[in-house]
Amino acid sequence: IYADVPKGPAIEVFALTQAFKDDSNPSKVNLSVGAYRTDAGVPWVLPVVRKTEISIASDEAVNHEYLPVTGLDTFTSAATELVLGADSPAIKENRAFGVQTISGTGALRVAADFLHIHLNRNVVYYSNPTWENHHKIFSDAGFTTLKSYRYWDQNKRQLDFKNMVADLNEAPPGAVIILHACAHNPTGIDPTQEQWTELADLLEKKKLFPLFDSAYQGFASGDPDRDAWAVRYFVQRGFELFTCQSFAKNFGLYCERAGNLTVVQKCAGTKAAIHSQLTWIVRGQYSNPPAYGARIVSKVLNTPELRKEWMASIQTMSSRIRQMRTALRDKLVALGTPGNWDHIVNQIGMFSYTGLNESQVRVLIDEYHIYLLKTGRINMCGLNTGNIEYVAKAIHAAVTG
Ligand code: PMP
Repeated sequence: IYADVPKGPAIEVFALTQAFKDDSNPSKVNLSVGAYRTDAGVPWVLPVVRKTEISIASDEAVNHEYLPVTGLDTFTSAATELVLGADSPAIKENRAFGVQTISGTGALRVAADFLHIHLNRNVVYYSNPTWENHHKIFSDAGFTTLKSYRYWDQNKRQLDFKNMVADLNEAPPGAVIILHACAHNPTGIDPTQEQWTELADLLEKKKLFPLFDSAYQGFASGDPDRDAWAVRYFVQRGFELFTCQSFAKNFGLYCERAGNLTVVQKCAGTKAAIHSQLTWIVRGQYSNPPAYGARIVSKVLNTPELRKEWMASIQTMSSRIRQMRTALRDKLVALGTPGNWDHIVNQIGMFSYTGLNESQVRVLIDEYHIYLLKTGRINMCGLNTGNIEYVAKAIHAAVTG
C-alpha cells in the first residue's frame, strides 16, 4: 500500500546543513541554517537559560503533569506583555491574551486554522521573498488563494515599498496579510516607521487583517521594545490582529518549541469564544503544548534579575551580528569587490540578503565549501573572526569570477 507514495522534495536549508556535515574540507562554513553561533562557531546556551534550567530541574515542586490545552498561564501572559508592552491598553482593558503554541511555526498554524475555520478567511498575502514555510502553513490550513506582495528590490538591494503598497492595494477585503514584526526573513530589511504608518492606513482602509510574525524580538536590535514597535503601533491604531511569537532565537530555545499566539481584540467580550475555539484547535492537533521551554521563558521574564541577564544576552548576540555585518562589508570594500555592499550593514537581524545570484552561490558551495541558500541569503551568525576573511575573499572571487 505504500508503493505509490512519491518522494517529496528536500527542504533546502536542512539539505545544506547535511551537505555541510558531510563535507570533509577543513575550511567549510555553514551560512545556511537560522541559528546563533558564537565567535568560536558553536551553539550558545544563554547563561540565564542554563541557570534557570538547573533551578527548574532541581525544584521538587515541578512535575510532569499535562499543561492546560492553551499552555502555561505565566508564560502566555509574559509573552503577551513582551510583545505588546507592559503598559499596553489592550492588556489593561483585557482585550489581549495569549495561547501557548509549538514555537512560532505552531502559532502560525493555529492562527491560520482559526482564521480559516472561524472567520472564513481563504486569502493570504505574504512578502516576496518570505520565510518559505508561510506558504505551506497556510496552504495546509486550507487557504485557497496564496499570493505574494513585492518586497525586495534586487537591483537597489532595498525595500520595494512602492510595489509593496501597489500589491497590497489589490488585496480583497478580509485578506490576511503576513507582516514580519522585525528583522524580515530573509532580507533583513524592515519598513521605516513612516512606512509602517502608511501600511497601517492602507490595511485599515482596505479592511485587511494584519498577522504579525515575530520571530526575532530582542534578538534583532538588542532592545525588545524597539523590535515590537510596528506591532504596538498597529495595536495603538485600534486594529484587531494576531501576533505569532517564537522564543527560538531570542532565548536560544530552538528545539524546545516555545511560542505564543497573541490575540488582540476591539473589546474584551469576544475573548471567551475565541479562547474556547483556539482550545479546540490545539486539542485536535496536539492536545497540549510542551512545558520545558515555556517554564524557562516564564521564569526569566517574570523574575526581574533574570530578565536583566536575558537583556544582556540579547545585546551580546545582536552586537556580535552587527560587528560581523560591518566586518564583511569593510572587507568586501577593501578587496574592491564590484558593487555596493552597504545593504549588509543596513539590514537587521540574523540574515543578510547578499544579492549574490544563483551561479555565484554555486561557486561558493562547490569551490569554497561555503553553504548558503540559493537566493543568496546568509546567516550572519555563521561568520566569525576566524572565517570572515576566507568568506569575503570567496565572495570576491565568485563575483569577479
Ligand atoms: N517565522 C519566521 C520569519 C522565521 O524566520 C521563523 C524561524 N526560522 C519562524 C517563523 C518559526 O520558527 P520556530 O517555529 O522555530 O519558532
